[in-house]
Amino acid sequence: MYNTKYGYLLYKKAKCDKCNFVPEDNCQLDLVYKDGDMKNKSVKNMLTLCANCNRVYQKKLKEKNKSILDITVDADVTI
Ligand SMILES: [Zn+2]
Repeated sequence: MYNTKYGYLLYKKAKCDKCNFVPEDNCQLDLVYKDGDMKNKSVKNMLTLCANCNRVYQKKLKEKNKSILDITVDADVTI
């Protein structure tokens, strides 16, 4: 059987994709799925972010989702 834990680590890089931070320990880096689909394990969908960059990334993601929600609400009002 394919070990998902090791599969995960294959995509994790040694440094942050955004700020090039090289961690003292690997646990300081997070693997992010760009499209949010954890089954989409293509290299293009993977992003290695340090804890700091991931915090900002998750915040932006929430704000993006919120704006989509707002558009939906507006559309409902128009109809
Ligand atoms: Zn970073």
